[in-house]
Parts: sequence; structure tokens; C-alpha cells
Amino acid sequence: MERRDVVIVGGGPAGAATALFLLRRDPALGGRILLLEKARHPRPKVCAGGLIPHALRCLDELGVGLAVPHVMVDRARVEAPDDRVEIEGARICAVVRRDELDASLLAAVRAGGVEVCEEEKVVALGRVAGGVEVRTPRAAYAAPIVVGADGSGSLVRRRLVDAPGRREEIARAVMADIPVGPGASGWDGHARARYDFDFRAVPRGLAGYAWAFPCLVGGAPHVNAGVYAWRRTGVDVGALLRELQEDLGGVAVRHQAAPIRCWGRAPFVAPHVLLVGDAAGVEPLMGEGISFALEYGRWAAAEIAAALGAGDYAFAGSEARFRRAWVGRKLHRLGQAATMFYGPGARLWLGIAARWRGAQEVGLRWYNGVDGWDRRGGWDAFATAVRWSIAHALRA
Ligand SMILES: Cc1cc2nc3c(=O)[nH]c(=O)nc-3n(C[C@H](O)[C@H](O)[C@H](O)COP(=O)(O)OP(=O)(O)OC[C@H]3O[C@@H](n4cnc5c(N)ncnc54)[C@H](O)[C@@H]3O)c2cc1C
Repeated sequence: MERRDVVIVGGGPAGAATALFLLRRDPALGGRILLLEKARHPRPKVCAGGLIPHALRCLDELGVGLAVPHVMVDRARVEAPDDRVEIEGARICAVVRRDELDASLLAAVRAGGVEVCEEEKVVALGRVAGGVEVRTPRAAYAAPIVVGADGSGSLVRRRLVDAPGRREEIARAVMADIPVGPGASGWDGHARARYDFDFRAVPRGLAGYAWAFPCLVGGAPHVNAGVYAWRRTGVDVGALLRELQEDLGGVAVRHQAAPIRCWGRAPFVAPHVLLVGDAAGVEPLMGEGISFALEYGRWAAAEIAAALGAGDYAFAGSEARFRRAWVGRKLHRLGQAATMFYGPGARLWLGIAARWRGAQEVGLRWYNGVDGWDRRGGWDAFATAVRWSIAHALRA
């Protein structure tokens, strides 16, 4: 059995960020980490690829930056059941292709001296004295610390963290990449650097929304269109996407669907084990997961560095520290927001959000994590929204 100090299972943004934040703490740690990835990068990933400003700042911090082709979004159009809202703002989102982004992150991990084994799928995990045994078809590894960064279907979670019979919080999203241009979709989001969100199906029972993002596939303009469903409500998500495709120009393209594990009460830490990214759970309102994957990586790196220093791998208090930190509180509030916007009072809350400009300005900054806005308390944000609304009214 081969021994390592840290084994990271999964080379998506959460696994890569864990390794990169560890390297930032101490470059010498690179030689003590093994990252196992079942695919070979660049590997396909079903995702719209929208990076909010907070994610972009994390990438800068990690020294990776935004070195892949992308479309920068400066405008949003939001359709609520009874209103249309147009929002202007510089650099609201950058839309990337996930195969390209994830490959660039993993290349940075490898360049930092971490041993990265691709096409090496973890097939079994079990507890052994002093840690965890990780098995792949090629080898068996033992480590005092295992990080589960293996996505929504996480094997690490199922084998080492979950209690049997626990209720799952799994959202679903279905998407398609539709070509834009002559003979294809006539959608004007590319020309206007705009992305669209549509909540009009909420009163029909969808606990979620539809989106259209401008993107580049192999350099050619496309619209990534999709439907997100937080909870199963009997609404046919595939049919909604077909409707959306017709609105966008009627081009028939392949749909791709994937689960997104949502943040909730389920534990994401056990002795010798930390879960990060989708394996732990991301935000339920919009299903945005990349900025959280990067933040989970920051937290995991701090916990791992402390554990290695102390030789104590119980991770007692690690989960509570995450839940109490601003990022845990943000996830919690986004869970509450999902209940408001997709629950029985949805029409009321969506109507308020669509008509209250101060709340839109504050909400967008808070959601996107602009200038540390997402670290502010709820009352502070509410008071600011009221103040800005009064200022707008006085100016009008
Ligand atoms: C349709 C759709 C659209 C989305 N759009 C957005 C968006 O616009 N913006 C946004 O922020 N988020 C979006 N998300 C969410 C986002 O894709 C995820 O939150 C994000 O990918 C989480 O990163 P991760 O590293 O935790 O997991 P993943 O990206 O899933 O990476 C997990 C990695 O683990 C590997 N792996 C899995 N099992 C094993 C194993 N047994 N052994 C070894 N390796 C393994 C996989 O190959 C993969 O590389 C979307 C999701 C979906 C489904």
C-alpha cells in the first residue's frame, strides 16, 4: 500500500482549489499531496460556466486568473412572472467552457508539484488504523486525510460520511449549447453582452428558472440555454428546455442533464475526511457552485494545514467553523431565499424583487460577492437597500 499525507479525490474546481490553496500556504506541501481524477483533462462537464465576480477574484488570488476563452457579461435581463427587469453593470459574470477552465486549474496544480493521476478512478474507500484506504484499479493508497472533491455523486461521501437513510437534497439542471448566427438562434445576448434569467415558470410549479448565457464553443458564438429545478415538483424540465429552445430559434441540439447537490444540514466532515464543492453541497437558489467550490477549497486547505501541523486528523470543529464563517452563512441565506422564491409565496417575493430597485442593486452585489458585500449582515444589507431606494426616489 502506498502512503501519502493527503489524497484528493476529484480534479474539478473544488479539488484543484484545495490543492492550490494548500500550495499557497506552503509550496513544500505539494510533494505530500496526491490528486486522483477519473477522467483526463480537458474533460467534458455539464455546466453553463458562469463565473461570478467572487469566483474571478479567487482565481486571481490563486494565481490562475482567467486565462481561458470567455464571454464577459455586462447586462442581465430577468423575467419575473409579472415584470421584466433589465440590469446594467460592468463585469457581472464571465462565461467559460468548463473543460477549458478545469484543465487550466489542474495544470496549475501539477505545476505546483502535486502528483496528479488522471484516468485513475477511485473505486473503493474504507477506514484503516490512522486514516483511510483509497483503492483504484491501479493501486491502493493509505492517508490520514482524504478530501472528497468528487462531485454531486460523491463516492467519498457515500462511503465515509453519510449516515444511512439520510434525505438527499439534489437539484437537477438540463442544458443545451445552441449555435448563434445566420440560420441559427437569433438571440441578441451576445451582441448586448447580456445573460437572461426567466422565472415565469415558477407559478406553473417549477422550483427554479430558465437561463440563456452567451458563450463560445470552439471559438464560435453559442447560447448556453438551460433549466434549473431545485426540487422535483412534477414539472417536465426537458419540455421547458424544448420551449426555451423554440423561443431561441428552434435549433434542435442535444440536451445534457446533471445533478447538483445542495447545501443543507447533511454533514460534510468526518474523522480523516473533508468534503468540498458539490460533494459537500452548493447553493440551492440558482445552483451556482464554482465560487463555492473555490471557497470550500480555501477552508479545506486551512483545516488540512492545521491538522498536519498538530498531527490530529479528527477535524473536530471543522464543519462548525465553515458553517459559522461568512461563506456558510451565505449558503444558509441562499437556502432560505430558495424557500421564499420557489415556495407558496413565490409570486409575492418575485414581484417584490422585480419592483424594488434598491433590493436588486444590493442583492446583485451580495450574490456576486462584489467588494466583500456577501460578508455583510442581513440587516445592514436591508438598511442599505432602503437607503438607496429613498435616494433614487428623491433624485427622480
Ligand atoms: C447544467 C448545470 C449548469 C451549471 N451552471 C453553473 C454556472 O453557470 N456557474 C456555476 O458557478 N456553477 C454552475 N453549475 C454547478 C457547477 O457545475 C458545480 O457546482 C461545480 O462543477 C462543482 O465543482 P466540483 O469540483 O465540486 O465538482 P465537479 O466539477 O463535478 O468535479 C468533480 C471531479 O471529480 C471527478 N470524479 C468523480 N468521481 C470520481 C472518482 N470516483 N474518482 C476520481 N475522480 C472522480 C470527476 O471526473 C470530476 O472531474 C452548474 C451545474 C449544472 C449541472
